[in-house]
Amino acid sequence: MDYKTVISETEKYYLPVFGRYQLVLDHGKGCRLYDAEGNEYLDFFAGIAVNCLGYAHPAVTGAILGQAAKIMHCSNLYYTAIQAKAVKVISEVTGFDRIFLANCGAEVNEGALKLARKYGKKAPGKYRIITAMQSFHGRTLMTLTATGQPNYHEDMEPLPEGLEYVTFGDIKELEAKMGDDVCAVMLEPIQGEGGVHVPSDEYLRQVRALCDKYDALLIFDEVQSGVGRTGKWFAYMYSGVKPDILTFAKGIGAGFPTGGFAIDEKLAHVFKHGDHGGTFGGNPLACAAIYATLTAIRAENLVDKAADRGAYMMAGLKKLQEKYPDKIKEVRGKGLLLGMELVKEGRSLVEACMKEYLLINCTAGNVIRLVPPLIVSEEDIDTALAVMDKALAAF
Ligand SMILES: *Cc1c(COP(=O)(O)O)cnc(C)c1O
Repeated sequence: MDYKTVISETEKYYLPVFGRYQLVLDHGKGCRLYDAEGNEYLDFFAGIAVNCLGYAHPAVTGAILGQAAKIMHCSNLYYTAIQAKAVKVISEVTGFDRIFLANCGAEVNEGALKLARKYGKKAPGKYRIITAMQSFHGRTLMTLTATGQPNYHEDMEPLPEGLEYVTFGDIKELEAKMGDDVCAVMLEPIQGEGGVHVPSDEYLRQVRALCDKYDALLIFDEVQSGVGRTGKWFAYMYSGVKPDILTFAKGIGAGFPTGGFAIDEKLAHVFKHGDHGGTFGGNPLACAAIYATLTAIRAENLVDKAADRGAYMMAGLKKLQEKYPDKIKEVRGKGLLLGMELVKEGRSLVEACMKEYLLINCTAGNVIRLVPPLIVSEEDIDTALAVMDKALAAF
């Protein structure tokens, strides 16, 4: 199928819910993607912070191929060795006792919110859930309601009850809203989609204290910030504020759609048999991807590398900000979850970089989000910075 036909056939049959770029991808290797005409792109978007090992990483590809030839799927009514191995390593890297596996970020957050609601059954009316403005938690009806962005709620009413929002980082506002009828507070320890917002450690500690005071569960949505992206295995490890429920997805399968949530033993019996589940979650293929991904991240020391490369890129971004103070408002982030806030809409900058074979993303209208694979090299970062420099000059 030629380039134009791929686009026209997709546009003809696929629901028009995505604003797509005119780019037809064929394959990838490392941090590079190749389009259907053989053009090479440097990828600093990584499929929305998913492809943490880049493309065609031999360990993950090999694990998936090998598992596909054995059992792709069997029901969770049976055991498999690969699931046992996957949940053990997830427990080790998250620092939690118990793991539940599902297929995407929205689904794992949905499960976490269900668990919080069930936890709230200990007291009458304890069902309020507080989340932050500018958050992003997914697109199921419950998780889009948890998402503190009114534009996602439009035309979807009636929404599930009991969700309320506070300004991210404002502890006074949260304090005013807290009560014994709150069953959970859900936050991203670094907001991704909302524009790469990093709260202070002090704020997270105060949120933890309020949750303890009112016996509410603290849920950290680390769907984007988890799995080494920020330079720690999970972003919560910077502040030392341990949530009651940790959710993860995006990077954990290095491109294979999977995710889960983690809790400690004290919450392990909130859900009884039959309270939650799923046909596909944690199936052998997903577990093979997870096990291979986490093992490779460990073996290649990619969490520390993400911290180093992130600091290197941040230094480069700060130089760009000094050079273009009238165009760049702020640069922020941790590890390889970085944002560059522009003074205006950023889409044209993304397009200018794409013409120079660099893929980046703009979120929240004017924040360039840079989330390359964790395997990115300093040379790749130099290349990306040079392309952005040139594009900013004309921006
Ligand atoms: C992407 C994302 C989600 C949703 O994940 P999906 O896999 O798209 O359902 C939820 N929370 C955060 C923080 C995300 O970045």
